[in-house]
Amino acid sequence: MLFGSPGSGKGTQSKFLVRWLGIPQISTGDMLREHVRTGTPIGKSIAARMKAGELVPDRLVNDLVFDRLRQPDCARGFILDGYPRTPEQAAEMQEVLATTPTTEVVIHLVVDYNVIIARMAGRRVCPQCGTLYNAISNRPVNAGVCDLDGATLEVREDDRPEVVRARLNEYDALTRPVIDFFRHSGVKMFEENASDSTPPEIFGRIQTNLAADEFMELAGK
Ligand SMILES: [Zn+2]
Repeated sequence: MLFGSPGSGKGTQSKFLVRWLGIPQISTGDMLREHVRTGTPIGKSIAARMKAGELVPDRLVNDLVFDRLRQPDCARGFILDGYPRTPEQAAEMQEVLATTPTTEVVIHLVVDYNVIIARMAGRRVCPQCGTLYNAISNRPVNAGVCDLDGATLEVREDDRPEVVRARLNEYDALTRPVIDFFRHSGVKMFEENASDSTPPEIFGRIQTNLAADEFMELAGK
């Protein structure tokens, strides 16, 4: 199970893990969107709930995930991304997995929120051509001006510090109870500091931790 706030690089680490272990990544967000897109009965029920401003119920999310885990490509293991989202989902998942030879491991990418806010605040976009710039790794030749068309660069709404902080607080409120649930249930948990290293460095530490763990036997590595 992979947990990480917006800006923690969770998507990148997830891709690294898929490539390394050769097991599928299961994203409940992607699965729900796919049901809505293709108009299945589940998708129609989700769309109706979302229109009414309701949450997708734990029961439905769990059934989707458990059904997915029974597919043959999950036999050697799987990476859960964006799930479980509530302690209730986590508790039922543990019950279901207890009947299988699965060993659960939580990887929690921990980041300093001030670092993420500063990183986002350093981003600029060209309103003309959409090119992204960044105060640290991709500066424009002339400060504040697009290299390609000379337009004045802007801060995106989503990158404004108060917007980023609100998203991080929301993530925290949602995820903390789930992390606490796993901590108290004795599931193996690796908390990786993802604030001040490159994505390959962070992945290297994840690999070291996992390789030292008995679960790697099950993953066939
Ligand atoms: Zn431009």
